[in-house]
Amino acid sequence: MRDVAAVRADFPILSREVNGNPLVYLDNGASAQKPRAVLDAVIRAYSEEYSNVHRGLHHLSSVSTENYEAVRGKIAKFLGAPSEDGIVYTTGTTMGINLVAYGWAMPRFGAGDEIVLSVMEHHANIVPWHFLRERLGVVLKWVEPDANGDLPADRIAEAIGPATRLVAITHLSNVLGTVVDVKAVCSAARKRGVPVLVDGSQAAVHLPVDLSDIGCDFYAVTGHKLYGPSASGAIWISAERMAEMRPFMGGGDMIREVRRDSVAYNDPPMKFEAGTPGIVQQIGFGAAIDYIEGLGMPWIMEHERRLRDYARSRLDGLNWLNTQGRSADKAAIFSFTIDGAAHAHDISTVLDRKGVAVRAGHHCAQPLMDHLGTPATCRASFGLYNTEGEVDALVEALELCHDLFS
Ligand code: PLP
Repeated sequence: MRDVAAVRADFPILSREVNGNPLVYLDNGASAQKPRAVLDAVIRAYSEEYSNVHRGLHHLSSVSTENYEAVRGKIAKFLGAPSEDGIVYTTGTTMGINLVAYGWAMPRFGAGDEIVLSVMEHHANIVPWHFLRERLGVVLKWVEPDANGDLPADRIAEAIGPATRLVAITHLSNVLGTVVDVKAVCSAARKRGVPVLVDGSQAAVHLPVDLSDIGCDFYAVTGHKLYGPSASGAIWISAERMAEMRPFMGGGDMIREVRRDSVAYNDPPMKFEAGTPGIVQQIGFGAAIDYIEGLGMPWIMEHERRLRDYARSRLDGLNWLNTQGRSADKAAIFSFTIDGAAHAHDISTVLDRKGVAVRAGHHCAQPLMDHLGTPATCRASFGLYNTEGEVDALVEALELCHDLFS
């Protein structure tokens, strides 16, 4: 069992200072820092084992292809997917959901068909569906969380009607930290024959994911939030949905044969992976999964649960702080504003002077901001290397903010 000090030593960037203060990195919801194991894997891939994949017959191409393809199995195991054939490599959740919108939904949906989604979705799980609304006349049907920020599965189930063709739902809100019971959502949707896409961009970082148990049709994840390189990621697609999908992008690697008047596609999942991929990014993603599995999800969950409870008790002690989302079981993600005081951007600027990195803005979740009645919040999102001392540093910096702005 490792302690957090030893874990922090694995992340070189955490020892730096910002504005003369120790860095307190609480912007993990946007992107997480990388452990030495990931940095080493990236450097090794480029300095010793780099070549393009799938094409060459020479040694380096074989090694590179082997390292790159090995990650598919790691992602499948990490997500509890029934087989690695359902794992399509992406640059992140945004690309995964766009692939589904263009490759599966666009050719199948028409005017009046409904997509059920929540107002808690990230824009990555909203805008691709707006494309279908604009181009095909698809109707977006919105579900709202309750006053605590909870989104009970039955609210989503009740929104499913005869015209519903898809439920597209987050597993964990990037703003409120709310966890959605996606297994219950899938079970309700399945009874009505409706496929479910789950945005797992945040959930896979904080919860064990078992796709065999959840029973969804699509599950998208983002590598850079999982301590892997930027532009790494994957989407799992069930065999049934994959058989219905058309390729979204065309080019090299996704084809078997191209003639002047015909084209034959490669087998899935490569059918959906056109062009030279993020070879080293995915190799780094594999190293990140190894790192997370080395720590163990139970260790991460217990550590983050303690951090969440401590942060909640400290933030609740600030009676001028408005925290959004009171779900009892939420992840260690806190969104807040200061009563009658500065804009979220001003708060984050003051925090930054103290070395505390948080995100300020609408967090790519404007329908949720509208629902909450605020244009923007500050968000402190914790990761596996954060400490209770960093919660104290956040509170101290917030007190300074309050003194400055009130
Ligand atoms: N979905 C959620 C819930 C997110 O938090 C994010 C990123 O913040 C995304 C999707 C998009 O991820 P990416 O930009 O890496 O594709």
